Amino acid sequence: MNAAWETVIGLEIHAQLATKSKIFSGAATAYGAAPNTQACSVDLGLPGVLPVLNREAVRMAVKFGLAIDAAIGPYSVFARKNYFYPDLPKGYQISQFELPIVGPGHVDIEVDGVKKRIGVTRAHLEEDAGKSLHEDFHGLTGIDLNRAGTPLLEIVSEPDMRSADEAVAYMRKVHELVRYLEICDGNMQEGSFRCDANVSVRPRGQAEFGTRAEIKNINSFKFVEKAINYEIERQIEVIESGGKVVQETRLYDSMKDETRSMRGKEEANDYRYFPDPDLLPVVIEEAFKEEVKAMLPELPDAKKQRFKTHYGQDDETAATLTASRQLADYYEALVKASGGEAKLACNWVTGDLLGALNKAGLDISRSPVDYERLGGLLKRIADNTLSGKIAKRVFEALWQSPDTADAIIEREGLKQITDSGAIEAIIDKIIADNAGQVEQYRSGKDKVFGFFVGQVMKATQGQASPGEVNKLLKAKLKG
Ligand code: ADP
Ligand code: MG
Repeated sequence: MNAAWETVIGLEIHAQLATKSKIFSGAATAYGAAPNTQACSVDLGLPGVLPVLNREAVRMAVKFGLAIDAAIGPYSVFARKNYFYPDLPKGYQISQFELPIVGPGHVDIEVDGVKKRIGVTRAHLEEDAGKSLHEDFHGLTGIDLNRAGTPLLEIVSEPDMRSADEAVAYMRKVHELVRYLEICDGNMQEGSFRCDANVSVRPRGQAEFGTRAEIKNINSFKFVEKAINYEIERQIEVIESGGKVVQETRLYDSMKDETRSMRGKEEANDYRYFPDPDLLPVVIEEAFKEEVKAMLPELPDAKKQRFKTHYGQDDETAATLTASRQLADYYEALVKASGGEAKLACNWVTGDLLGALNKAGLDISRSPVDYERLGGLLKRIADNTLSGKIAKRVFEALWQSPDTADAIIEREGLKQITDSGAIEAIIDKIIADNAGQVEQYRSGKDKVFGFFVGQVMKATQGQASPGEVNKLLKAKLKG
């Protein structure tokens, strides 16, 4: 990065709200239906129809507002944003302009150990547009209006970020939050969570912001990072070679890893905003706010802090385990199911379980091993029935079958041999059979000890308690 320049970034995040029906109609919002099977007369903008506001969408917006410590607009207004595009049959999008439902508030991020508070200017409710399909019809464009009218919460940040890393950290934080709140499924591939990145540069030390470009519709964390970094370099180059950055809308091409100009930036007045005469203003009463507040779950930062103090986890571990509400819940249920083995549960979740899920491309909610069966395994590790090595074998069996750990241990005879009499007999035989190695060990070649341990483990198929083996071998080899 060029030290003479400072980057300024503000994000507009679009989160599709997880309501069953659309924001102004009763049509379903489910993703992936056959084109135009989920668009009713309201979504199509047919003459004579009237929008009716979805109460659930309002509730979700308020939930988000409360979670980011924001002011909730007691009185907010829907406005028509007028523009023409084939995927917008009404000729306007219903959005909010002067009086949004949420804001201002804030979100705290951390990059390389440095904490920073990012301002959220506002979050407003609006409807999503339909989709234009350019690939499916040769020389033609298809229009799918299933998405038209899907509720969106547009979350607008202050221009508070100073690097792509900060922007990604902020976007991740908001992503985590909307999933915790269960107001958005966060599926970025399906477009449920996407953002526009506004980027400008200015000479370090200058108070005024530079002219910004807005990169539209980025739907992955990686692309946000790459698009912003590309854009920073491009703007610096333009200015350093004597040119001026123009305010415009750009598109990020992930194949070429570059941003390209789409169109000149429109001003708010290009949209001829005016209050939608078909919709009443939204009045949020104190009682409704209190009702929503009472439904707020424990939020990510609070949960992470609790994991650190209550379970004694370090920062990174607590962050891993609280990355999603489902994972955190799984962990806590596992601790209970294992009879309170918090540390062991932590090791197994962050190690073997997440590793196996990752490899299989599965989310914790679809883990083949539920917390009860894994808890059963942890109990057998804790009470020394299983050695660490054999426990891994049982875990694999849990993954493959619906049986409990105890059933698997029983069936496959995997109990750790802790009976010292049995181990002693095996050791005696190995000592008798390997007089040469015994001689070497006794004459000071300590390394040979490993050979004996190996022999015992081989003879017991790994089931002898390693602690017991070490103890007994040491005593017997002394002679
Ligand atoms: P619009 O809705 O026309 O895109 P806004 O004024 O609402 O414009 O700003 C949109 C986003 O752009 C906000 O997130 C804001 O923080 C950000 N932003 C505004 N000015 C700048 C700037 N000079 N550089 C970077 N980001 C900016
Ligand atoms: Mg914008």
